[in-house]
Amino acid sequence: MNDSPTTYARRLLPIRLPRVCVAVTGSDINEMVEKAESLVRDNPLIEFRLDYLKNPATAYQRLRRLFEYRPDAIAIATCRRAVNGGKFRGSVAAQLEILTKAAAAGCQMVDVELETAAALKPAEIEKLRSRASLILSHHDFRATRKIDETFDRMKQFPADFFKVVTTATSLYDNVLMMKFLQQNGDRHSLIGLCMGEQGIISRVLGLRAGSAFTFVAASAGEETAPGQITARELRDTYRIEQVDAATRVYGVAGDPVSQSLSPVMMNAAFRRENVNAVYLSLHAKSLDDLLRCVRDIPIHGLSITMPYKQAIVEHLDNSDPLTQKVGACNTVVRSQDGKIYGFNTDVAGIISPLEQRIALSGARVLVIGAGGAARAAVFALRSRNAEVFILNRTAANAQKLARQAHAKTVKRADIKKLSFDIIINATPLGMGANKQSPLDEKEIRAKYVFDLVYNPAETRLMKMARAQGLHVIGGIEMFANQGARQFEIWTGKPSPKDEMRYVVSRALEDRAASEEKTNGKPAAKAATKAVARTANKTVQRKK
Ligand code: NAP
Repeated sequence: MNDSPTTYARRLLPIRLPRVCVAVTGSDINEMVEKAESLVRDNPLIEFRLDYLKNPATAYQRLRRLFEYRPDAIAIATCRRAVNGGKFRGSVAAQLEILTKAAAAGCQMVDVELETAAALKPAEIEKLRSRASLILSHHDFRATRKIDETFDRMKQFPADFFKVVTTATSLYDNVLMMKFLQQNGDRHSLIGLCMGEQGIISRVLGLRAGSAFTFVAASAGEETAPGQITARELRDTYRIEQVDAATRVYGVAGDPVSQSLSPVMMNAAFRRENVNAVYLSLHAKSLDDLLRCVRDIPIHGLSITMPYKQAIVEHLDNSDPLTQKVGACNTVVRSQDGKIYGFNTDVAGIISPLEQRIALSGARVLVIGAGGAARAAVFALRSRNAEVFILNRTAANAQKLARQAHAKTVKRADIKKLSFDIIINATPLGMGANKQSPLDEKEIRAKYVFDLVYNPAETRLMKMARAQGLHVIGGIEMFANQGARQFEIWTGKPSPKDEMRYVVSRALEDRAASEEKTNGKPAAKAATKAVARTANKTVQRKK
């Protein structure tokens, strides 16, 4: 077989490229092509990371055969050198030969690093470019800095696409990347994104800022760059195909947020109600970074989570009376002129599930804890004229809250002698692998037990209460209810509360199953599966 570049006619690029490019890796070409075959129907744009192969020269025949029976595949050949963050240890000349042969085999695009371009002769670059569209790339694996300077250097070389990839070390780095795309996207074909967990905004919103496409991993564990998300996650959770200039942007901001189920729940709600919106996970390492980002990116609303619920209050332009009373804000609405307004929907998250079951006026309620969630519970219950008792590890914190909300405090030693209508756990006891309970069996003397902890779905406290025949409410109800209220504030529409609760329950089940499989190591990606199932369920229901 002759591998001469002239043997095969160049496969042309379609006028409209897909928005998502799946990076495919593998230790041998058969594995790589098999993966590509399984992906290509839904993801026609595929990057073959030839630098992952032990011997890239084995790839051409197999690639050529793939393109013969999958002419719809649009392929990028990449053979990134180790010095530039890839795995290829050969010379620039060897890299050039591999890319040239991959183009001859039918790859319509080749990726050439800026450093490689600088080492090649102009005639060599032109020759390669006559055989495939050239993506000139630059990766900064440490930070987002000097984007314009880097781009000025890149423009010295002829290219069909300029790919600028940086690392986000703050949320604001996404703003810098999107400004770069917006300023240069109408004169040049650009691909731009930030790597890292904090770079997710650029992966989703970079497309509408002017990036020709974005890169995703074939599946969890196959990432070729830090922070890369999977094709499925980008489609099912973030609904990338629908994101356009009119798409409203929402997100959950906190530190950490990687385990938050809010993106899964809220994106499912937006999909169910046909709201043109996307909900992102915003890892803000400081409140300052978050607020700077909110000023520059037209974010329409935020869910605020730990540790910023209290600290954000003083930055709000206005807030509802509950936020002021509780001293914590978990919901932000940003108006068009950039002003931010705060709401507290944790209160509704606690009160709604209770009011559906029991009259709160005059009810005797024990709240365990005196932190943010306990404050929301105590003020909400007091506003409904419930008689509230607070039990907390640090007595002084309980006393302070009791004074502010006109509630009572109670000592642990007295709990056994008292009975309540409702007991609410607002401490982390019972969360995650921690199988503790804030009360012993004999201390649970109530009609209803409401555990605000939602992971796991069934805590030790809930199990003990159920065994005694008590009514039990789990933290998922609070989570879904506070999210439902956020949805209503942001969209003005009734929320699909049942769907939201369902998605969260399934995501937690998936997470528990994966954690069991991986011996207790958290599996962050499991939640995506639940959304995919819900998406299918929704489609089936609508048929
Ligand atoms: P927080 O502000 O940090 O308050 C934690 C409270 O729990 C404090 O009163 C603290 O007592 C007490 N506490 C912490 N560790 C303890 C321990 N080992 N033993 C006894 N008491 C302990 O947290 P938060 O925002 O109120 O959240 C509390 C819990 O509520 C979370 O862990 C979460 O599970 C749940 N939550 C659920 C939702 C939902 O949507 N379902 C929403 C928010 C919160 P000290 O005063 O002595 O420090």
